[in-house]
Amino acid sequence: DVASTWDAERIRTADKEFVIHSWSNQGAVNATPIAGGLGAWFWDYDGNRYLDFQSQLVNMNLGHQHPKMVEAIQAKAAEMCYIGPNYAERSRAELAELMAEVTPGDLKMSFFTTGGAAANENAIRLARHVTGRQKVVARYRSYHGATAGAIAMTGDPRRWHAEPTPSGVVRMFDPYTYRCSAGHPDPCPVCTGGPHLEEILQYEDPTSVAAVILETVTGTNGLLPPPPGYLQSIRETCDKYGILLILDEVMAGFGRTGEWFACDNYDVTPDILITAKGLNSGYVPLGAMTVNEEISGWLMKNKFWGGQTYAGHPLACASGVASIEIMREEKIVENSREMGQRLRAGLDGLAERHPSIGEIRGLGLFQGVELVKDRSTREPLVPFNAVGPAAAPMGAIVAAAKKQGLYLSANNNVLRLTPPLVIGAEDIDLAVGILDDVLGIADEAAAT
Ligand code: PLP
Repeated sequence: DVASTWDAERIRTADKEFVIHSWSNQGAVNATPIAGGLGAWFWDYDGNRYLDFQSQLVNMNLGHQHPKMVEAIQAKAAEMCYIGPNYAERSRAELAELMAEVTPGDLKMSFFTTGGAAANENAIRLARHVTGRQKVVARYRSYHGATAGAIAMTGDPRRWHAEPTPSGVVRMFDPYTYRCSAGHPDPCPVCTGGPHLEEILQYEDPTSVAAVILETVTGTNGLLPPPPGYLQSIRETCDKYGILLILDEVMAGFGRTGEWFACDNYDVTPDILITAKGLNSGYVPLGAMTVNEEISGWLMKNKFWGGQTYAGHPLACASGVASIEIMREEKIVENSREMGQRLRAGLDGLAERHPSIGEIRGLGLFQGVELVKDRSTREPLVPFNAVGPAAAPMGAIVAAAKKQGLYLSANNNVLRLTPPLVIGAEDIDLAVGILDDVLGIADEAAAT
């Protein structure tokens, strides 16, 4: 039996020798072979179980191996694994119709891709064609994907290693109220949104700008929900100059923030909404670009210059349909809200005991804990983009948590707490208990 020779050691060895891992020096990779998962948990071959407080890459909103998801993919595979995007296909049509139903406002037609970056690429190209303009305004604290255009819009230092990137991206500051670039005077031009954008547009020529692209709630780069009024203000400024608003909800969409979409928290509808990850919990690669009525109308009269062999892949779309049905049947959005409140209450309790907690922020099950050396100066526990010993305390916290069975992640000095939206109260409490323990490492590092 060939399969039986693939024990943990063989997997580890072959992985190390032949697999190129993302964003890594391959010599330093020591990936744990994983044997399985269920719900909010996954486990290795040695019987170690991990509570998945990352939802892997913040994509497994429905958790591991949801039986209805597996069933939907199996049923579609038995029926038809693939048909070209030029045909009409049941799951693709059904998912597109459902997207128009669940997304806010007048968002209507969808183009399905294999992930978030590809959806963003298409959004930018389409925005350029629709407006006849070239420039795009994006923010520093952002991640939009690893392909040429998406990484050019990305502010995250991963962009540095993709340079030279395509031109035409103009950068704006983020509404990071805890560390405001403008010093946060009241009212703050950056954190209120519109005034900062207006100033940039004045220097750039507003008639040259096709789109503003934002993560509705910044994910990877600090977990930053915008202050009240920010998105409305950006929306108004975009409207004033005929600029399209693209909201990237690859991480924040599909219940993550305790609403169906993060923009529902702010009553703002983008012209183009980008989703992936939670769209089908990553069971099959899938992303989507969903456009409003006006752009849908434009597309009826003009050519869409985009495509992929796997655009609207039937297995992916079938899992997307199943995912939306599960979200409705199992009240996933409500659970995200409720468990988010429970998590937040637990974290607030930790802040009373751990002086290294500078700020806790987030919505629903999209929570971040910013760690500092000193609450009064807000000096970050580790410097921006630190590597090696300078970043050690964050790595030590993540490693200590993993040892206790809690899988979490950190970006700079911010811990990201993003469990599957199917998680229950017991697992939330378990995670808070482990965090209480491992945050001692942060307190100690802050004190030295
Ligand atoms: N946009 C955001 C906000 C993301 O967080 C990510 C991935 O983490 C992407 C886009 C890129 O998505 P993908 O990795 O599916 O290309």
